[in-house]
Order: sequence, then structure tokens, then C-alpha cells
Amino acid sequence: MIGRQKEIMAGASASCLLRVAAKRFGKHGLSQIRTVSSLVELPETHEMMRKTCRDFADKELIPIAAKLDKQHLYPTDQVKKLGELGLLCVNVPASEGGTGLDYLAYAIAMEEISRGCASTGCIMSVNNSLYLGPVQKWATPKQKEQFLTPFLHGDRVGCFGLSEPGNGSDAGAASTTARLDGDSWVFATTDKSKKHKGISAFLVPKPTPGLSLGKKEDKLGIKATSTCYLIFEDCRIPKENLLGEPGFGFKIAMQTLDAGRIGIAGQGLGIAQAAFECAIEYAQKREAFGSPISKMQTIQTKLADMALQIESARLLTWKAAMLKDSGKPYSKEAAMAKLAASEAATFCSHQAIQVLGGMGYVSDLPAERHYRDARITEIYEGTSEIQRLVIAGNLLKEYQAS
Ligand SMILES: Cc1cc2nc3c(=O)[nH]c(=O)nc-3n(C[C@H](O)[C@H](O)[C@H](O)COP(=O)(O)OP(=O)(O)OC[C@H]3O[C@@H](n4cnc5c(N)ncnc54)[C@H](O)[C@@H]3O)c2cc1C
Repeated sequence: MIGRQKEIMAGASASCLLRVAAKRFGKHGLSQIRTVSSLVELPETHEMMRKTCRDFADKELIPIAAKLDKQHLYPTDQVKKLGELGLLCVNVPASEGGTGLDYLAYAIAMEEISRGCASTGCIMSVNNSLYLGPVQKWATPKQKEQFLTPFLHGDRVGCFGLSEPGNGSDAGAASTTARLDGDSWVFATTDKSKKHKGISAFLVPKPTPGLSLGKKEDKLGIKATSTCYLIFEDCRIPKENLLGEPGFGFKIAMQTLDAGRIGIAGQGLGIAQAAFECAIEYAQKREAFGSPISKMQTIQTKLADMALQIESARLLTWKAAMLKDSGKPYSKEAAMAKLAASEAATFCSHQAIQVLGGMGYVSDLPAERHYRDARITEIYEGTSEIQRLVIAGNLLKEYQAS
């Protein structure tokens, strides 16, 4: 397969390669990935996806990731290229103009892209799972013309607004309200009385009068992404921009986050893998007391523990993705995957700095960036504490005393 892959790579552009992968996926379908062996060896389609994304990260992201981070530059060109490769709409069916691959492919792509640049991985995950995920599932054909098609290949990038200054983990406590006024929804004042049952989801184009952006936040990591408040002041949008039914917003958000967590697990894995690669390469080159530090057992222990956490988290991530792809419940496994992978990212980037010593602490090498980037994976799309609540809630249902 490797020889054949090289042959394909030689004659095809990366975007073409993904089209081949998507076509083969369509031909063989999900049956190709329903075996235990896929946990140790990926199906051909997914291996092609992995290689394409890894090559893209090596050539297009790793060389510029430090600059994007230091100068807080949004990766406009790279996002455009992701769009051309079909990596901004991995799970949108081909019949709707998307790449038409499954969630396992998406998790793998998220890992490889985030290994190159965690910020670019974040943008990719928001467009794929937080934005296109619910739009693809809940929007009407008419809504899709405006809110799906232009977001498939990087012409426009979507975002997802759920958290508010007064609520994050407690998403049901949303306080922004919308009232129907003739043919429009108007966002304004506050009414918390209905809690999550009163929440609806809306498609809000940008620009729209009454919608403005707060200041761009200065963050610890993923500095090449843009994070800011969305401010709604008598913002008026057409009545037809309701996504799903009135009152479905909380359900849409929770389903979206369940799936999105698999993507964030991929992001965590990519950061962890990048930190690990940085550490193992350095350990073999750096000499202390007359030999490479990789000969020292304390350093070897760190490398072994890093690899162990990455591999365990990767298997959980693939399992969660495969459950989703086969239509089975996956909420617990997605939370486990996100928790394990984000903690692996934090652990591995911490250990990488230790392996690099002083060189881990300065920004000439990427270890300190991985350390900063890793932390967000334990916070957004549900903190680690919330993941543990989701896991425990599911366990208590499974083991309910009769
Ligand atoms: C860079 C960045 C990008 C973001 N992007 C988006 C975005 O695109 N869209 C969006 O909607 N939101 C976004 N967020 C918001 C993010 O999802 C929230 O910050 C996150 O969900 C946590 O909410 P919070 O900050 O309000 O923390 P809080 O909910 O106030 O939590 C504070 C602490 O209390 C703990 N805690 C809270 N409740 C419980 C509980 N029941 N049991 C145990 N511990 C608990 C938390 O785990 C945490 O440790 C982003 C945040 C950041 C930093």
C-alpha cells in the first residue's frame, strides 16, 4: 500500500488525493472501518487522509506556526488552502458539496493539522464541527444556500456563539434573548426564567446591523485565532433564520458539542504529538555528562509516559469517532476522548519543556508554544471537570441499581 500511495502522491495534488480518498470511502462505505484491526492499522482511505494532512502540516504549517503565534496573525492563506483540500467540510456529504468522509477521518485530520499549528486546527474544528455540523443537520435547503455552501471551501468561515460572560459550563443559563417582531427576530434584553427550554438557535449573517464584535482577546495560546465577544444590540434578523424548531437550541448545542469534542480530542492529540516529537528529537541530540540525554533513564521514562498517554488517548478518540460513524451512542466516549487527549496535550507539553531544559522555556524552539496551546483543549467545548461529569452521568445510568 505504501508503494501505491507514493505512486498516487507523485501524480496527484493533495486536494486530488482527498477526492480519491472520498471516492474510495463512498465505494467501500463504513463496513471498511468496523473492525478491531482499524484500531491498530487504519483503512486505506484514512491512511491517505493522514498522509495528506501530515504533508500539508510539514510543508505549510510547521514552518510558519511560530510566526503566526508571535505576531497573532490569522492564517488566512492556510485556511484557504484547507478549504481547497476539502478539510473545512470533511463530514458534509458529497451531495451537498462537502468532502463526504466520516468522523474517524475528521479526527485524524484534526490531529495532523493541529500537530502543525494548533491555531489552524482550532479554526478547522470550529468550521467543521461547531458550525457546519449543526447547519448541515438542522438547516432547511433554503438556509443551506446561504449558510452552508459558502462555508465549505474557505470563502467564508463560520463560528458558534453559546457561552456568555455569565455562563460557560452552565450553558442552559443563557441570558441573551430574542423576540419575534413581525417578520424578524430581535435580540435584546434578558429573561433567564425558561432556562434551557427557552433557548433557540439562530443563523446570524455577518455583517448584520445591531451585531458588533468586542475587542479581540489577548490569550495564553492559540494566538493565531481570533476570539471576541459577539454583541447583540437590537440586532434584527429575518424570521426564517431560526435553526430547527423554537426551543431546540439547547439540544442542538449539546449534540454539536458531543461531536465537536472528538475534534478537540484530535486537536489535543496533535499538540501532544508535536510536543513528543520535539522532545524525542532533542533528547537524542543534546549531550550532558558525555552522552545524549536520551541515554538517561529519567529522560526515557518521560518519553515512554508521553507516548503511552498519546497512544491511549488516540485509541479512545478513534473509538468515539467510530461509534459516532456507526450511529451508536458516543457521548461518554467523546467526553473520555476529549479528557484523555487534552490531558495528554498538557502532560506531554509540560514534559517536553522539562526534556529540553532551558531551551524548552525560550521561544526559539516550539515546546513553550505547545505548552501554551495545550491548555485551551482542557477548557473549551466543556472543561475537564464537565467531561468527568458527562462520563460519570453516563456510568451512573449504565450501572443504575435495579
Ligand atoms: C480561547 C477561547 C475560545 C472560546 N471559543 C468559544 C466559542 O467559539 N464559542 C463559545 O460558545 N464559547 C467559546 N469559549 C468559551 C468556553 O467554551 C468556556 O470558557 C468554557 O465552556 C468554560 O466556561 P467558563 O469560562 O464560563 O467557566 P465556568 O463555567 O465559570 O467554570 C469555571 C470553573 O468551574 C468549573 N465548573 C463549572 N461548573 C462545574 C460543575 N458543575 N462541576 C464541577 N466544576 C465545574 C469549571 O470546570 C472551571 O474549572 C471559548 C473560550 C476560550 C478561552
